[in-house]
Amino acid sequence: MSTFGTVRGAVIEPGDHGYDAERTGFQTADPHRPDVIVVAADAEDVRTAVEHAAARGLPVAVQNTGHGLPLPAAGGLLISTREMTGVRVDPRARTAYIEAGVRWARVVADAAPHGLAPLSGSSPGVGAVSYTLGGGIGLMSRRYGFAADHVRSIDVVTADARLRHVTPESDPDLFWALLGGRANFGVVTGLEIGLLPVAELYGGGLYFDADLVPEVTTTWREWTETVPDELTSSLALMPVPDVPAFPEPLRGRHVAHVRIAYVGDAAEGERLIAPLRAIGPRLIDTVDTMPYTDSGLIHNEPPVPMAYRASNAAVPEVTGDLARDLLELAGPGAPDRAIVEIRHLGGAMAKPPAVPNAVGNREAGYLVGLLSKLGPDATGVDELHARFDGLLEGRASGRVLNFLFGAAATPDQVRAAYEPETYRRLTELKARYDPANLFRLNHHIPPA
Ligand SMILES: Cc1cc2nc3c(=O)[nH]c(=O)nc-3n(C[C@H](O)[C@H](O)[C@H](O)COP(=O)(O)OP(=O)(O)OC[C@H]3O[C@@H](n4cnc5c(N)ncnc54)[C@H](O)[C@@H]3O)c2cc1C
Repeated sequence: MSTFGTVRGAVIEPGDHGYDAERTGFQTADPHRPDVIVVAADAEDVRTAVEHAAARGLPVAVQNTGHGLPLPAAGGLLISTREMTGVRVDPRARTAYIEAGVRWARVVADAAPHGLAPLSGSSPGVGAVSYTLGGGIGLMSRRYGFAADHVRSIDVVTADARLRHVTPESDPDLFWALLGGRANFGVVTGLEIGLLPVAELYGGGLYFDADLVPEVTTTWREWTETVPDELTSSLALMPVPDVPAFPEPLRGRHVAHVRIAYVGDAAEGERLIAPLRAIGPRLIDTVDTMPYTDSGLIHNEPPVPMAYRASNAAVPEVTGDLARDLLELAGPGAPDRAIVEIRHLGGAMAKPPAVPNAVGNREAGYLVGLLSKLGPDATGVDELHARFDGLLEGRASGRVLNFLFGAAATPDQVRAAYEPETYRRLTELKARYDPANLFRLNHHIPPA
């Protein structure tokens, strides 16, 4: 395409070889259907693509791995960042510079030889930049806060097609807005993030069979109120398919999976989780000292792309009533098959960061999610998620942006990911930095 003459990466249009592969990522349901895709090779390609779109009034979407696909876009220009995979670790400064196409696995691997780790999350395959711009609830976040709280500088192409190096000193408003407001304010080409002096965790998973699920839910819920900030955990209630991709002891069962990440020594970790082990026999128990490079085994999420529907709510507490309702909705014996996940938040996440940012719902105690696999056999999914939303009504303090996928990324739900004052300021800054609303094919915040 002549107008993209200076772009080093590929330019792909509908009908071209590779169009479907390029627009489809981890989430395979309903991908973006752009008029044109630019597979950016570097920051200058991103800048050229934004300039092209701005000149023609084409809205811009951006995608790396596709784990967090919002409402799919029809038309517009999609910038794929997945080939921008540079990582530079500075062990002395305890920082890493990560380009927009990097996944957490790479940052973890490059930081580990220096005894350092990033605030990565449950899945090593998730894109590090978007995760961080969306807040980033990590395996050690109760100890160290959101990933966004550790960002030092941001390289971003804004709607005026300028590549800017943004720091809290150079552009305090834009720095604040990008960390939480994400793609609404530009296409980030790279981030400088702080790393933590963590080489090992005491962590892993405790898997209990269906008969213990109600007791695990009650005990875990009460136990989270007693643990120190060094301990971050979550609970998943999940029907495990009876197929060889899953460990034999779990196949065909509806299990409770408690995920543990303790930043501290093993003896203290073992003492802290003793009340969970005392619940009863585990089908599998992998909790032990592990190098941070193995931290993906804590949640052990399947790495294969799939079609899914997810709903989430941030709540101040998980009461006994809420736990009972969730078990009835999707626990063992419930008519619908779906995964319920409850993540323990709080600790350092609830504290104000050293440099303010727009990440919302900091004071939530827990994140409750429901995830359904989509496919020909999946029926009643919309109704199940409507029931989930119904039972969280009046109990939720808001939504968590990073976990708003596809159908859940509606304008109302995006708004609920922020406190009203934060949302108002974001809409005002959107009007300043993107008055033509070029960046609207995302978790959209409209200009004031
Ligand atoms: C299996 C799984 C596990 C997860 N675990 C966690 C977890 O532990 N903690 C947590 O906080 N979140 C978690 N998430 C959510 C995840 O952080 C978000 O979905 C995140 O947006 C994924 O980023 P991505 O690049 O992989 O996905 P993409 O779908 O490629 O990106 C999502 C959106 O981010 C925006 N975006 C992407 N790249 C850029 C860029 N360079 N500049 C500006 N905007 C951009 C775009 O709007 C894009 O649509 C998980 C999601 C999944 C599916």
